[in-house]
Amino acid sequence: MIFKDDDKILENVHKILYLLSVLLLLVVVPFYFVAVCKTPGHLKKKYDFMWLVDKMLSKGLHLDNLCVYDGVLKSETSFHC
Ligand SMILES: [Zn+2]
Repeated sequence: MIFKDDDKILENVHKILYLLSVLLLLVVVPFYFVAVCKTPGHLKKKYDFMWLVDKMLSKGLHLDNLCVYDGVLKSETSFHC
């Protein structure tokens, strides 16, 4: 008699976990595709590179944060070319 109740409880737990996993999958998959479509980690050119070099030189800033190969302003914490 005790085993029969345990089986019923386990069956309900299994159903609940199955539905929860399907629900979480339906929540995660759209966000995954949104993240992929936004091309994460890709730097976009916002400024003309020569204008940026002139501005940084005129203000006495280091040119270490410029990537010459890509012509972009890179962040200090990023790994670049
Ligand atoms: Zn680069």
